[in-house]
Amino acid sequence: MDQVSAGQGEIKNPWGKVNVPATTSSLTDVMSEQLAKQLHEEFNPSTTCNDDLDVASFQQDADTDSDLMLAQMLQMEFDREFDTQLRREEKKFNGESKVSISFENYRMVHPFEDSDSSDDEVDWQDTRHDPYRLEKPTTTPKKGFVGKGKNITTKHDEEVCGRKNTARMDNFAPEVHVGDGISMDLKLSNQVYNHLKRHCQAEQKRSARLHEKKEHSTAEQAVDSKTRLLMYKMVNAGILENINGCISTGKESVVFHADGGSFEEMQIPKECVLKVFKTTLNEFRNRDKYIKDDYRFKERYSKLNPRKIIHLWAEKEMHNLARMKKAGVHCPEVVILKKHILVMSFIGQNHVPAPKIKDAMLTSEDMKKAYYQVLQMMQQLFKQCNLVHADLSEYNMLWHEGKVWLIDVSQSVEPTHPHGLEFLFRDCRNVSTFFQKAGVTEAMDVYDLFNTVSGLKISSDNEADFLAQIHELEKINEDHVQKRIKQACADICENGPPLLNEDD
Ligand code: ADP
Ligand code: MG
Repeated sequence: MDQVSAGQGEIKNPWGKVNVPATTSSLTDVMSEQLAKQLHEEFNPSTTCNDDLDVASFQQDADTDSDLMLAQMLQMEFDREFDTQLRREEKKFNGESKVSISFENYRMVHPFEDSDSSDDEVDWQDTRHDPYRLEKPTTTPKKGFVGKGKNITTKHDEEVCGRKNTARMDNFAPEVHVGDGISMDLKLSNQVYNHLKRHCQAEQKRSARLHEKKEHSTAEQAVDSKTRLLMYKMVNAGILENINGCISTGKESVVFHADGGSFEEMQIPKECVLKVFKTTLNEFRNRDKYIKDDYRFKERYSKLNPRKIIHLWAEKEMHNLARMKKAGVHCPEVVILKKHILVMSFIGQNHVPAPKIKDAMLTSEDMKKAYYQVLQMMQQLFKQCNLVHADLSEYNMLWHEGKVWLIDVSQSVEPTHPHGLEFLFRDCRNVSTFFQKAGVTEAMDVYDLFNTVSGLKISSDNEADFLAQIHELEKINEDHVQKRIKQACADICENGPPLLNEDD
């Protein structure tokens, strides 16, 4: 005992802790509560006597604890370095090989402890207000069951509902930015949500309608995707160098200016026009009579689907122009026909189309000249080309290089057409009225003009009477026409349709 007490003053624990000699006690003493208490008091004097608080010993304890922590941290650092080295070795060992051997089992640091701090960040985020954490709201519900045993949050809870509504916005309106996010706890009331939903649905419908309209309007302009492709093919084949702007958009067609190219042996004019017949049939329905009663096309017309009928219109214009050209009538020259696109020579110069005769501001001298030209061309048409223009007016006559040029002959028919003479009468009325109004005193009236052009001798100054006689003639014609139709059908059966478009 003395030894121990003498030694107490000399022996210094390097960690600053005093070695307390162990006291011997019997087993019964050890089990005694009193002894336990006594021992506890001996080792923890501070708990019993605050006045005797040994600050130094406290500090010593604290120092030792941080040493332990430091040691653990160092060990961890060491282990991490080891693992990094191990990973390097693993990489080197496996190289580019698709089959690799894992060194994972030799790692010192448990993957759980080794997690990157950046990954941990998510765990540390304050998700209390995360709107997507819908299932377990931490806030006390404002509505729902309140009371003993009834503190349940139902789906009707205002906040839950609000959050759900906000999240649902993405389902039907991802384009609506609700401004919600991790840091915002946006709640949309049912009323606002329903209002927004209705608005978005209406908007979506509207935009679909607009899109449809846009598609339609391109079709209206006859330049739908199929037409564009055809036009592109023409440029690609070299028939055309360029397709430039649109000259006119009419009810039945759109006309474009184009620079002629070079294609095989073809003589392509420097400047061309593309007459694109509209693929919407609405307008053409009114014009059925021009084609379905034209014996040249009658047989084919009845067998074709509506889209092909449009091709027939283009083909009809091509044939009529060819006839006119042959007879020496001033008109555009056909370059090529592709389905519903007719390419012909451009009447005009340097991209500027020739004016319609109504816009040409002709001098009276030129107007008189123009009248005589038109008269001559009408006769040529009727007698040489066996055609009636059927839409002849100041709108379809262009003034170019001091001459009148006739255009737009897709509806032109033969005089034996069941309504051919009526169409001629109408043409004569248009021509007569225009030139008389333009001050051409020599311009014949409609009846004289009709007789001069047709060579018929209908004697009447009364329109109703004149037309009645025309109808009589048309009836007489019918037998003759029927014969021709039969002949044409027989020809088609034997030789196929005349000048069919190769793609048809
Ligand atoms: P629509 O059936 O739409 O009336 P048109 O054949 O009359 O078609 O052509 C419409 C317009 O396009 C004409 O009024 C004319 O201004 C212009 N045009 C048509 N063909 C030519 C052409 N070959 N050269 C110059 N302009 C033309
Ligand atoms: Mg026209």
